[in-house]
Amino acid sequence: MGLISWARKKSPWALHFNTGSCNGCDIEVVAAFTPRFDLERFGIILQGSPRHADVLVATGPVVRQTKDRLVRIYEQMPNPKCVVAVGTCAISGAPFTGSYNIHGGIDKVIPVDIYVSGCPPKPEAIINGLIQAIKKYEKKQ
Ligand code: SF4
Repeated sequence: MGLISWARKKSPWALHFNTGSCNGCDIEVVAAFTPRFDLERFGIILQGSPRHADVLVATGPVVRQTKDRLVRIYEQMPNPKCVVAVGTCAISGAPFTGSYNIHGGIDKVIPVDIYVSGCPPKPEAIINGLIQAIKKYEKKQ
């Protein structure tokens, strides 16, 4: 295993993207990354660029406006990569399913590795989802 692979495995960087969420899930994602929950103890930090991210944390149903952006972000992330769908909207589209501008859950557009249910899920559930993502990410290395 190369040094870069080892470093990425031990300290995966996460990118948060809202594909059309009501912001409820986003507040919980932001809370999970605060010092109160100390996600950095697992080596995970929030990152602003998809080119430097290993894990994509996506919230909300995929709306027409964000579909292409979501695909572009996913393609810009280096391999291997993991996607965590946070919230019931990100899993299935939930109450917005059938709406004229909704494509559905994240996995209708890009592959999803981990699903975190809840409306919105608690920070503890999001952290658990990220830890599962790290385990899956390690297997992809
Ligand atoms: S799961 Fe709930 S909190 Fe999250 S985006 Fe959907 S409606 Fe909002």
